[in-house]
Amino acid sequence: MKNPRPLRRLLASAGLALAATSPLAFAPAGALAQSAPPGHHDPKGKAPSKFTLDVLERSRATLPFGDTRDFDEQKKGFIAPMKDLKIRADAGHVAWDMERYQFLLQKDGYDSIHPSLMRISRLNMNYGLYEVVPGIYQVRGFDLADISFVRGKTGWIVIDPLTAAETARAAVKLFQEHVGKGLPIKAVIYSHSHGDHFGGVRGVVDEADVRAGKVQIIAPRDFMQHTISENVYAGNAMNRRLFYQYGVLLPASPYGHAGQGLGMNIAAGASGLIAPTRVVEKDIEDFEVDGVRMVFQNTPNTEAPSQMNTYIPAMKALWMAENVTGTLHNIYTLRGAQVRDPLNWSKYIARALYLYGQEAEVMFASHHWPRWGNARVQEVLRGQRDLYANMNNQVLHLANQGVTINEIHNVYKVPPSLQQQWFLRGYHGSPEHNSRGVVQRFLGFWDANPATLIPLSPADSAPLYVEMMGGADRIIARGKQLHDEGKYLLAQEILNKLVYAEPKNQAAKDLLADVFEQLGYQQENPGLRNSFLAAVYELRSGIPAGASPNSSGPDMIRAMSTELFLNFLGIRMDSRKAEGMRFTINLITPDNGEKFVIEMENATLTNLSGFLSPKPDLTMTIKRTDLEQIMGGQKTLEAQIASGALKLEGDASVLAKLASTMVDFDPRFQIMPGTKVRDTGAYKALPYEAVPRQTIAE
Ligand SMILES: [Zn+2]
Repeated sequence: MKNPRPLRRLLASAGLALAATSPLAFAPAGALAQSAPPGHHDPKGKAPSKFTLDVLERSRATLPFGDTRDFDEQKKGFIAPMKDLKIRADAGHVAWDMERYQFLLQKDGYDSIHPSLMRISRLNMNYGLYEVVPGIYQVRGFDLADISFVRGKTGWIVIDPLTAAETARAAVKLFQEHVGKGLPIKAVIYSHSHGDHFGGVRGVVDEADVRAGKVQIIAPRDFMQHTISENVYAGNAMNRRLFYQYGVLLPASPYGHAGQGLGMNIAAGASGLIAPTRVVEKDIEDFEVDGVRMVFQNTPNTEAPSQMNTYIPAMKALWMAENVTGTLHNIYTLRGAQVRDPLNWSKYIARALYLYGQEAEVMFASHHWPRWGNARVQEVLRGQRDLYANMNNQVLHLANQGVTINEIHNVYKVPPSLQQQWFLRGYHGSPEHNSRGVVQRFLGFWDANPATLIPLSPADSAPLYVEMMGGADRIIARGKQLHDEGKYLLAQEILNKLVYAEPKNQAAKDLLADVFEQLGYQQENPGLRNSFLAAVYELRSGIPAGASPNSSGPDMIRAMSTELFLNFLGIRMDSRKAEGMRFTINLITPDNGEKFVIEMENATLTNLSGFLSPKPDLTMTIKRTDLEQIMGGQKTLEAQIASGALKLEGDASVLAKLASTMVDFDPRFQIMPGTKVRDTGAYKALPYEAVPRQTIAE
């Protein structure tokens, strides 16, 4: 590998450490027959084909490149650049790096990057401090999200303190050097429950000042409930899928990671959380924050389960959180989460348009750049309102005519009038995966064809296909032909079957990788591009080995309810190890007044809040704060018993039985067949550890 450093950094950002041998060193020598284009990170890498170049050229011809308003808006109000393009994490590694994306500024385009993706990535290279209007400033390009500063009577109000303390601290420093005048931060507003909007709070304010009442923290309704819950139950799977959506292993290059649409990438620093001191409970609340009147509009179940917009009447400034950014957002997110409600989302945008959008003179948000002038504000609000409504209504229109989840992405088309507006392009959501998401939300996975009702697993059906197609050589020959004709979607159909049937067939994997690589280059949407290119990486070189992932920080554990933790234990336990077990545990946490009955029966672990069993096998009494040490893996259950923090009454042996059912989830489980290079086996969680990992940015 020519340059292992980006990979090392990216692995660090995923909580992994690079093994001594680079995974790319596993590439067999024979694969070097066709040489990679210059600058490609992979010796097996291919240049874009003439078919891919045609696809990109056709897209370019249909897109409104004559509309350059985004570039004017993106640079308007520029005050100062980011001086050091790398921000170090307190732990020593690089938490943020804009240096590796400089290639995007060196040329107007690359033939391996979709021109529209290239465009948004160049726009997102706007690292520095900007004035929105006098009294409102933004630091952009220091993380996936923007951090905003609003002038209060006695200090500053921060909106959305980024993902990591280190990047947030660097942003505050730049801000204070130029316009902050050293005035204190008096309040922090979390716009919503995704990690890139609160995780850096400890780089902005001191918790002691929050406790002492010097700093107010304001959040939307149900914020704490949702900060972590979205990522716990399927957390390991979501983290693994982030390798695809965010291209975690891909070096930044024209052939690899070329931006993430919402921003360039996610900072890899220390994420924390300080609980809000004031929660906006009503649908709309109007109060002063450090002397500035703010109108908060809760918008639950939109881009996040807990989110709010904010209007500042004196400045005619409308903060649209992540409900309205410069892109079509995710209705379905590729890392995996519950499908969002696009109709509800559209209605909340419409409500903001009618409540505040009639007079707002500037609109700003948690990603991208502001929009100035009421006409422009309305234009963007109306377009966004219509985009989510159209996607919801017209996908259902088609579904009601029998179009299924397996066809909708090929049938549903965004209306041309919406396609021609840059701020509605699919830089985070794509029309393809979002339209499938809408069908999933309303009808679920089944297309109602009984053949897909209880299908064989791909690995079980593939051998018959391979046999019927005449074996591997014939499939490879035909696959190569389809590849050479630019029929990549057809080629992937048959090669994918072969790879499932013969996971060790490297020639098959390499050819499928070549097909995916072209499909990756053709995508406008970074999540789709990264997913294809991530699979390419793993098919060619295998999943790299690495050290243990980071456990959750104490803030995230504190944000996890005991019920969520107990539910998660029910997911971590392996039923097959629990057959025949039967016991009942009462759990009491006196410091917060909670109690639970936990039962193991029928190889299933259940819990019920607010109840105790009259005849438990064991009663456990422990303060919630001491339980958190166990949940976070800082202390073992045994240590808490020995110290007296955990009091047991009854048969303690049931705890050993319960522990024996707990399984560690492999953070690098195999996605593409035959890509597991070797068992990394490094990670062992404590029997009762929660392991929710980081909160996931969106
Ligand atoms: Zn975000």
